[in-house]
Amino acid sequence: MNDNFCVFLDAGHGGVDGEGNYTTAPGKQFQHSRGTFHNGSWFYEGVWNRTLTDLVAAKLKNLSIPNIIVSHEYLDFPLEYRVDKANWYHRKYKKGLYISNHANASGTGQARGFEVYTSPGRTTSDRIAEYHWDNVKELLGSRIRFRTDTSDNDHDREANFYVLRKTVMSAILVEHLFFDNYEDAKLLMNEEIIDRFAEAQVRTVIDYINSL
Ligand SMILES: [Zn+2]
Repeated sequence: MNDNFCVFLDAGHGGVDGEGNYTTAPGKQFQHSRGTFHNGSWFYEGVWNRTLTDLVAAKLKNLSIPNIIVSHEYLDFPLEYRVDKANWYHRKYKKGLYISNHANASGTGQARGFEVYTSPGRTTSDRIAEYHWDNVKELLGSRIRFRTDTSDNDHDREANFYVLRKTVMSAILVEHLFFDNYEDAKLLMNEEIIDRFAEAQVRTVIDYINSL
């Protein structure tokens, strides 16, 4: 589609290794009192992030849109290494987009909803975050909740996350619902919802490519 463009995909945190051990800090998992998730009643955020990221990569590949997954198959690589990888390979391309995939936790189990983050200030990333917001609204608007910060006239929230500050290309970080909320966690296990989240990312990539 466009050889001058590459998508850098980052599945947040670590996944499950060959012996079935979840390789990520305790805050990135949650044991529900009911329901079945990645390991019995445990929801593993890093596993979910990888499921989504792998699906996005497969969809981009089908469209011949260059993409590189900068996270490890299951290890929790340092953020510096993920960003270094993206920045190094980005030199081969004129434009790029870094997408960091996460699911959220509030600690109380009460919060719900979808969020898109960009770095503070007005950059191209804000425009991409708006594309993504619109695509998720279109594909999932009636199925999920949305959390927004419209104080600066757009829907994305702004934060100094490392992957947003240190990437040389435009970057967004997506928090896909709250995995420590039972209703949101159930939605995250729904294959159609996962596919719609992935589809929305692909459409956002295409919207951005078409805007260049
Ligand atoms: Zn996360």
